[in-house]
Amino acid sequence: MSVILRFYEELNDFLPRHRRRKSFSVPYTEPRSVKDLIESLGIPHTEIDLILVNDASVGFDYLVKDKDRVAVYPMFESMDITAVSKLDRPPLRHPEFVADVHLGKLVRRLRLLGFDCLYNKEWRDRELALISAQSQRILLTRDVGLLKRQIVTHGMYLHSDDPSKQLREVVHRLHLKNRIQPLARCLLCNGPMRKVPKEKVRGRVPEKTYAYTDEFLECENCKKIYWKGTHWKRLQEIIRNALS
Ligand SMILES: [Zn+2]
Repeated sequence: MSVILRFYEELNDFLPRHRRRKSFSVPYTEPRSVKDLIESLGIPHTEIDLILVNDASVGFDYLVKDKDRVAVYPMFESMDITAVSKLDRPPLRHPEFVADVHLGKLVRRLRLLGFDCLYNKEWRDRELALISAQSQRILLTRDVGLLKRQIVTHGMYLHSDDPSKQLREVVHRLHLKNRIQPLARCLLCNGPMRKVPKEKVRGRVPEKTYAYTDEFLECENCKKIYWKGTHWKRLQEIIRNALS
C-alpha cells in the first residue's frame, strides 16, 4: 500500500532535495495516522496548518488509505483557514512564547518589541515542551525533534539561524505587525514595564542621564530602569528590520 504526498511552501525545507515541490509516493504496511506518516518524513506537526486528503480537509488522526493523495500546507500567511482546517488546535489570540536555549538573541528582540517570551538556559527539551503545552505558549526552536513531541500543539520552527531574520519570520508568520509595543517588556527578565516618575530614579541611573532625560520606565519584576537614550535607536532599527 502507498500514498502520494505533496508538501507546499516552506514545508519543503524539511525534505530531501529530490522530494521538494513535487508529488512522491510513500509505501506503508500497517495502519498509520497521517500525522505519523508526515512526521516520519521529517516535518513536525506544529508547522502544518492544513492537510487535504483527496481534496478534503482531515485531522491529524486520519488513517491513510491505499492510493490517498495527501496535500500538506504550512501556516498560511495571508489567509485565515481556521474554518477549513480540521486540525484540532485551539487558536491563540494573544501570542506568547517560550524559546529554546539557543535563541537568546531572538528572545531579547521579541521582548524589545513587547512580546512575552519565556527563556531559561537551564530548560531542557522536556521542560520546554511542558511549558509550551501547559501555558499555551508558542514554542520557538530550530530543533525539529522538539516540535515532534506529542504534547506540543503550538510551535514554530525557525528556518533561519540569524536572529534578525528569525524575528522577521515570527512577526510575518504570526501577523504581529500591529501588536508591536516597544519597551513593554524587560529585556532581562520578561517582566512588564511601567512608567516611573523621574524623581524615583534619582541615584539609580547615571547623573548625566538623569539630567538630560525625563521619561523612565521600570521593570515591575526586576526593577531595572530603562530610558529611551540607551535602547531607542537600536530599537527603531530592530522594528524597521522586523517589518521589512
Ligand atoms: Zn526585569
